[in-house]
Amino acid sequence: MEYRLKRSGEACGGCAVEFCVGQSMFSVLELAAEQPLRADYCETCFDKLRDEGREIYAFWKTRKTSEGRARRVVDYPSLRELFFRMAQIEAVEYRKLSYLMALILVRKRFLVIKEFVTQGGVDFLVITAKDRPDALRIEAPELRGPEIADLTGRLRLLLDMDLEEVAPQGSGTAASTAADGPGAESAPAT
Ligand SMILES: [Zn+2]
Repeated sequence: MEYRLKRSGEACGGCAVEFCVGQSMFSVLELAAEQPLRADYCETCFDKLRDEGREIYAFWKTRKTSEGRARRVVDYPSLRELFFRMAQIEAVEYRKLSYLMALILVRKRFLVIKEFVTQGGVDFLVITAKDRPDALRIEAPELRGPEIADLTGRLRLLLDMDLEEVAPQGSGTAASTAADGPGAESAPAT
């Protein structure tokens, strides 16, 4: 899949001017119909974008460094918000990214897997969160190691976050992922 963010951090997505070291830029995440898009803009083009009323899901300000760009610290609550948003979008790329985000968030105990179900030959993860009344069913596409790595790379680029790679979940591992601990949604209320 062709990603518009191949040249991320190199040139403005609006006027195409090349960024120089130390220059401020705005990274913008848009949830387009088929796939999420990230592009970097100079301040002028970013202002223009906002004036046009383009629907921006998130943006963050960053600066070009001599090594390229510094990755942001992973912000799990934001990732969790994005997960719930992306999980509502039907396109294939969103389904894959939602699944990957679910794996990451479950591992970090920001979400809990309630169960695995198979329906019509398709596997689903059933996700629960204490602040959501209904359990959420997420398609669990069969992804091999290299695909997970590729998908993780795309998510890192999209969000500019230094996400670690996770292993795909099998139906036998649900119990261990729901283990209690700090922030566990399954922890008993005291
Ligand atoms: Zn520009």
